[in-house]
Amino acid sequence: MSDYKFKRVLLKISGEALMGDQEYGIDTETVTRIAGEVAAAHEKGLQVALVIGAGNIFRGLSAQATGIERSTADYMGMLATVMNALAMQSALEQMDVATRVQSAIPMQTVCESYIRRRAVRHMEKGRVVIFAAGTGNPYFTTDTAAALRAAEMECDALLKGTQVDGVYDSDPKKNADAVRYDKLSYHKVLADDLKVMDASAIALMRENDIPIIVFSLHEKGGLDNVMAGRGTSTIITSQRGLAAARLPLEGKTIMSFNLSDYRKRMDGALDSLRKEFAGLRTGRANAALLDGIVVSAYGSEMPINQVGSVSVPEARMLTVSVWDKTMVGPVEKALRQSSLGLNPVVDGQTLRIPMPPLTEERRKELTKVAGTYAENAKVAVRNVRRDAMNTLKRLEKDGEMGENEQKAHEKDVQTATDELVSNIDSALSQKSEEIMQV
Ligand code: UDP
Repeated sequence: MSDYKFKRVLLKISGEALMGDQEYGIDTETVTRIAGEVAAAHEKGLQVALVIGAGNIFRGLSAQATGIERSTADYMGMLATVMNALAMQSALEQMDVATRVQSAIPMQTVCESYIRRRAVRHMEKGRVVIFAAGTGNPYFTTDTAAALRAAEMECDALLKGTQVDGVYDSDPKKNADAVRYDKLSYHKVLADDLKVMDASAIALMRENDIPIIVFSLHEKGGLDNVMAGRGTSTIITSQRGLAAARLPLEGKTIMSFNLSDYRKRMDGALDSLRKEFAGLRTGRANAALLDGIVVSAYGSEMPINQVGSVSVPEARMLTVSVWDKTMVGPVEKALRQSSLGLNPVVDGQTLRIPMPPLTEERRKELTKVAGTYAENAKVAVRNVRRDAMNTLKRLEKDGEMGENEQKAHEKDVQTATDELVSNIDSALSQKSEEIMQV
């Protein structure tokens, strides 16, 4: 159970998926096969609710073309979904799976009426709930009904079982070069009008931040795989969700915004500042003080810590123990020539470097230098912030990201910026205190 990424899902099955090879109606064998998938997930303790369409029996829009008034035709479509729900209920119960059908249009002699709290209770008790009669309203589809119930049931995901294993950039049955998307943002699906689900269903999932996963109902174990975050599918979620998604990634991936990349760059500015601070000479000895010193050795320039080991034997003393005796001279020269004002004393192969006490004036100067370093670090953080904000703007403008999502990311970027600026401030006040300490 704990291996499962999603514990409660709503599975939307189109009416046509129940037709099998027939042109119309319900193919019992197909219904049994799909019921088997649901039963297998149910057996593992996962909570699955179903919404089934009615395209295999009746579609309001097509019927309207034949002269039936639209609302009436839609009610007929909704009634047809009840037939499919009953067929699925029967197949599941033959597998000993406890089920309830709840209809959005009351028909108490046939099934329960839809009552949200009761549906939740059924699921908690391990019953598979099949939501029938769509939303109960004409002019809607069962896609929207599925999204609505997924939100009401607080499902972890809305699963759309289809004939293919995800969303493609063109029809994979007609075009051999069609590419499957691994991940998509809600916004991209809406902006590019990708035929996944109705726009209202996508918008509802976007508002409630529930991922939609499109997968193949034809693959054995497909439902189990999706719930465990395995197998091939397309996940549709927010840009934030995409950044966090740990689903298997293959094939085409859209450009996404990853806050942690920017965060790393901001953290880098603070790291460099800490290094610069370490090199600022205070009365206290610090091995990092010598990091920037290079020695002319063996015909090339080498960092001091590659020709000897630097240590801090006491608070105001640094020592460099040179490995090769011939290097004592060049190391001493490098130390004296550095701008740090050091005065090494040679003792065999070891050079002792006492830290001279600082004058009040020199301390004040150093505090100013530390302030400049901190200011530069803040500028670096703000540059990263500007970069991030520009990327977000571009993604929004290109239709890759919704406005709300952009705003949410902008808030995160600002929070990271504020945090880093405050860390820089505290590093500076710590350093200034250290410099002024006599
Ligand atoms: N329908 C409706 N309101 C709803 C859900 C469904 O009016 O909330 C009607 C509509 O006429 C639709 C028919 O039921 O054409 C069957 O649903 P759908 O087309 O969504 O089925 P699917 O394509 O998933 O098989």
